[in-house]
Amino acid sequence: MPDSSVSLNSKLPRVGTTIFTVMSKLAADEGALNLSQGFPDFDSPKGLIDLVSKALKSGENQYAPMAGLMDLREKIAEKTEKLYGTAYDPESEITITAGATQAIFTAILASLQEDDEVIIFTPAYDCYEPAVELVGAKVVFVPLKAPDFKINWEEVKKVINGKTRMIILNSPHNPTGATLSHKDLLELDHITQGSNIMILSDEVYEHMVFDGERHESLARNKNLAERSFIISSFGKTYHTTGWKIGYCLAPKDLMKEFRKTHQYNVFAVNRPIQKAYADYLDNEAAYLELSDFYQEKRDLFIKLIEGSRFDFIPAKGTYFQMLSYDKISDEADTDFAVRLTKEHKIASIPISVFYNKDVDPKMLRFCFAKQNSTLEQAAEILHKI
Ligand code: PMP
Ligand code: GLN
Repeated sequence: MPDSSVSLNSKLPRVGTTIFTVMSKLAADEGALNLSQGFPDFDSPKGLIDLVSKALKSGENQYAPMAGLMDLREKIAEKTEKLYGTAYDPESEITITAGATQAIFTAILASLQEDDEVIIFTPAYDCYEPAVELVGAKVVFVPLKAPDFKINWEEVKKVINGKTRMIILNSPHNPTGATLSHKDLLELDHITQGSNIMILSDEVYEHMVFDGERHESLARNKNLAERSFIISSFGKTYHTTGWKIGYCLAPKDLMKEFRKTHQYNVFAVNRPIQKAYADYLDNEAAYLELSDFYQEKRDLFIKLIEGSRFDFIPAKGTYFQMLSYDKISDEADTDFAVRLTKEHKIASIPISVFYNKDVDPKMLRFCFAKQNSTLEQAAEILHKI
């Protein structure tokens, strides 16, 4: 194909290909162990796969309703009320999306206007800022502070002004593994009371919270829920990142706008998979036991790397563990991550990419959603570095 004969002004001039794609490709090219992009290297539950094939064979093959299969929305409403205490109306307050990524994009596109301000905490997952930028709204970054990456609410108060329309939260947090506490929700409630600020709460790792803590969903706080888009993803909970189904919960008036955008963005998402998830949600143990499952993996991984030259604070949630290489090298983390992939055959994600400016805390993120044998191999490599 020759070069295109037209030119366009990039809407995202500073954006390249996501680091997850870059590092996974490099891992594949180099034949390296891939602990970079977050996905399990074990299969999804057989019972769930059987339900998908049953749905495929029983005619669930045409468009789903725009907002998602009612069966699935009802099960999500039941689960959310049981776990977090807020009742969402499946008819008007829950929409099934093509993964959390689409839900995040749609919520931002549907609710923000040009020149609105949006608070994002750094380090931040990579899809928030470009979506805000595409709307023409402005991102205001507030840094989380190492080593525990908690939110400094005094800093938040300082940046809020009449233009602030949204705060984006992510707990458990990618990449740091930090979690919001009950006290954080009270602070947020206090700060936003009487304001017109919406909250986008990315809770895709809601079922991966460790050390006996509980997930502080915004759906636990009625005031906050009334101003929030709460987003989750079945990909994380059911080891099915490739199926790309998630959902958004929001009060009626917010959801009405969300659906106006959703219907012209995707209209409706994969029906047989929605049917299978609806049936599989009856199996409460599958999500209630996930925190223990991943805590064992986190504990194994950190036990295996003890005595290496990497330092760490155990992740409180998610399936990511950050490791500091401060004692090993002063290379930029992007260079170090590439070198480890090429020379030592282990791929990770450099943390600097989650910042808006030049910050390099000399840390790498490793995904421990892996078979124990993979974690053992990874630790063996890390000990030699
Ligand atoms: N938010 C966070 C914090 C994530 O880590 C991810 C990805 N894994 C997503 C959203 C996107 O989820 P999905 O794959 O369902 O689009
Ligand atoms: N959320 C996954 C991660 O943080 C990656 C998803 C993606 O590749 N976009 O690794």
